[in-house]
Amino acid sequence: MNKIKTYTFLQNQILLMLGLSLIPGLAYIALGWMSGVVIPALVWYALIVAVSIWGWHLYSHFDLIELSRDELKVWYRKLIIFFYIIFALWTVIFMLYAGKTVNNLHYIAIFTQLGASVVASTLLVSDQKLFFPVLLVLMVPLVGYFSLIGEWYGYVLAVFSIILLGVLLYSSDNSYRLIQKNYYQAQHDSLTGLLNRRFFVDYLEQVIKRLQYSQKFAYILLIDLDHFKTINDTLGHDIGDKILQEVAQRITDYCPKEYVIARLGGDEFTIVSGEYEADKECEKIAYAFSEKLLQILKEPYTIDNHNLYISASIGINGIGNVANNSKHFIKEADIAMYEAKAQGRDGIIIFNDALAKRVKEHLEIERRLYFALEHGEIKLCYQPQYNCDEQIVGVEVLSRWDSKDFGLLQPGSFISIAEKTGLIIDLGNHIIEEAFKTLKRWEEKGIVLNQFSINISVRQFLHSSFPDEVERLLSLYLDENTKRKVIFEVTETILIEDIYRIQTAMQDLKKLGISFSMDDFGTGYSSLSSLRDMPLDELKVDRSFVSHLGEQESDEVMIKTILSLAKIFKLKTVAEGVESKEQFDFLVENGCDMFQGYYFEPAMEKYTFEMYYDEYTSVKRTLLEA
Ligand code: C2E
Ligand code: CA
Ligand code: CA
Repeated sequence: MNKIKTYTFLQNQILLMLGLSLIPGLAYIALGWMSGVVIPALVWYALIVAVSIWGWHLYSHFDLIELSRDELKVWYRKLIIFFYIIFALWTVIFMLYAGKTVNNLHYIAIFTQLGASVVASTLLVSDQKLFFPVLLVLMVPLVGYFSLIGEWYGYVLAVFSIILLGVLLYSSDNSYRLIQKNYYQAQHDSLTGLLNRRFFVDYLEQVIKRLQYSQKFAYILLIDLDHFKTINDTLGHDIGDKILQEVAQRITDYCPKEYVIARLGGDEFTIVSGEYEADKECEKIAYAFSEKLLQILKEPYTIDNHNLYISASIGINGIGNVANNSKHFIKEADIAMYEAKAQGRDGIIIFNDALAKRVKEHLEIERRLYFALEHGEIKLCYQPQYNCDEQIVGVEVLSRWDSKDFGLLQPGSFISIAEKTGLIIDLGNHIIEEAFKTLKRWEEKGIVLNQFSINISVRQFLHSSFPDEVERLLSLYLDENTKRKVIFEVTETILIEDIYRIQTAMQDLKKLGISFSMDDFGTGYSSLSSLRDMPLDELKVDRSFVSHLGEQESDEVMIKTILSLAKIFKLKTVAEGVESKEQFDFLVENGCDMFQGYYFEPAMEKYTFEMYYDEYTSVKRTLLEA
């Protein structure tokens, strides 16, 4: 990769060399004329002009975008020949004038040759192939010339010249190595030796321009290791580093020569393919290539006596005749890679328009959600909860987004986005406040509930301001008696967080009168010890178990187990998603305390709930009295 830099550097040296040859060259004609060798001088200058024209041609035909790799190689070969010839011509003028003592021409010749050597050692420093032979071509004749004088001072000068040659070679070589090392370090990742992000972005920029010119196609892959953080956290960074090195090695071994590989940072790698004639062909190759690569990466790693297994998520993006910059293409590959992660990792996704559209919608929701709160578009609905006697004993608060732009949105399509962006903090506070207001209103209206459940996201729960905010809202809206009715529903994902921190936060809130319910129980990370260690009051049997009741025996067993576990830990139980009488009967039989679901009622708005509650309780009462 250093070649490109070397080429560009040398291209600029052509111009300097032309200037240093054509202008002083004229003075040499004059000297030749004064000293009676004008014809040879003119011939020499004509050669200089001819070579210079060729040099100019080389200079102006250097184009990293238009020239293919092979054409660049040819260009470079010609460039080397150009420098050889032009410096050789300076040796020619030296030989021509060195023998002439008229006008002390030989002094000028000697100086010329020394000057040319210094020029060569500075101009050509970026390329060993150039300065080495050129310095020899310039200095060896000088050494020969001094030796041939036949006097003692001639030998001394010859020795001096040899020393000077040595010094020039040595210093050029030193600078050359330093330059190469700097190039290398600026372009490579020190851990894996692959190219780094900065270089990669520039390189991709060139590839894109070249493809637009050649009307060909290529693709980039974005590879992200799955769960690499866990390895780093559990086994330490040394092992993590070794894995990254091994991954880099495997990718390098597998990629064809013309593919360029880089590490973008962390556990993220990227590859740009070679060029292909057709779009479809390119996509097929990209997919097949990625499948094989994934297999290779998934083979076990043996590192310091650990046998490790890693998979990866790969995003593919085609680059062709679309005018976009490299960052754009990388971003699209990134979107595809994230989609692969979202679909369960260990997979390959090709970026396409549908995906782009979805991401755009997502972003749009993200953007509008910000204003949804301000515009009062977030609404709360209340789903009643019943006891075994089918009396209304509580509600679960569920949010809706009544968007002017998208229509009515269910929480599934905006809560996770709010969690990701952090908006869940404001959104969550708003929901709690509105819910408390409703609870206060209902208490005043004589709608008597035993409990009132609000869903709380992990991120919201762990936010430093959360307990204070809850305390503030509680004291603002609810009296001592009503406070005790509030239940916060948290999901099992909370258990991946630091358990100590969770416990403390829960204890603090319990002091304020809040109870806790474990939502979606049985679908996530809970273990018996977490049930023991967390100050819970209630378990919610997940809808997925309830809805398959009667279809799979395993679900019956699951529900029975959860219900008896709850008994052991003295927790209330709520079954969610009860849709039929059979489900309800089964749950009652097995000791479930409360129920919610479409068998009874879906979530409804505040005023609807109030009417429903009045009607339902009065009918119930008449039935009981009858
Ligand atoms: P969840 O807490 O498990 O809520 C129960 C979901 O099941 C609700 O969907 C409810 O409408 C639906 N459901 C209730 N009964 C039935 C039934 O019989 N059959 C079927 N098929 N579904 C039923 P919803 O309202 O779309 O909420 C989805 C999830 O969004 C909730 O799951 C909860 O995790 C989250 N969520 C809702 N509101 C909020 C909120 O205000 N804050 C937070 N952080 N999360 C919320
Ligand atoms: Ca819930
Ligand atoms: Ca649930």
